[in-house]
Amino acid sequence: MLKKTKINDIEVEYEVIHRNVKYARLEIKTDIIRLIMPFNYNKDEEIIKNHEKWIYKKLSRIRASQKEADNKELNLLRTNKEFRAMVLLFIDELSKELKVNINKVYFKRMKTRWGSCSSKKNININIYLMHLPSYLIEYVVYHELAHLVEMGHNKKFWNIISNKYPNYKNMEDELLIYWLLVRKLIDNNA
Ligand SMILES: [Zn+2]
Repeated sequence: MLKKTKINDIEVEYEVIHRNVKYARLEIKTDIIRLIMPFNYNKDEEIIKNHEKWIYKKLSRIRASQKEADNKELNLLRTNKEFRAMVLLFIDELSKELKVNINKVYFKRMKTRWGSCSSKKNININIYLMHLPSYLIEYVVYHELAHLVEMGHNKKFWNIISNKYPNYKNMEDELLIYWLLVRKLIDNNA
């Protein structure tokens, strides 16, 4: 069920989904807010109210990124082969730098993330990353490898990241901007 509300100056639409879950949770993926709640639980308005600040911050960031996305373009010239070679090279360099060993690298088409890392020390890299500038590809590889040192997105993790990338917040912002462009590309090809 789609519901509407207003937070400060912005119209907010959110989808209420009832599922077999223990606790309610909020998700914001680009423009869609989803509120996943246990069956027979209907406090959606209360949950939205309690998280207004967080939602507003997230949505403002996404809206600002959307504007920036108009001024950026995806790299459509890099080949798959070039991309894979580049990733493997970054993995080679950066795993030495972080003193970690990885098991395998997988390239996948993913619709929700740039990369991931498993407890088996496998790294998954989103193929759509091939359309991004090389410094962001390097950043994502570093991010995933850093998970071999620290699994969670906690203080220790961001310390590792900020040691190499003091401007990592800008990198994260840029990744969101490119994410919006990649989503457009996926939608156009669908
Ligand atoms: Zn991560």
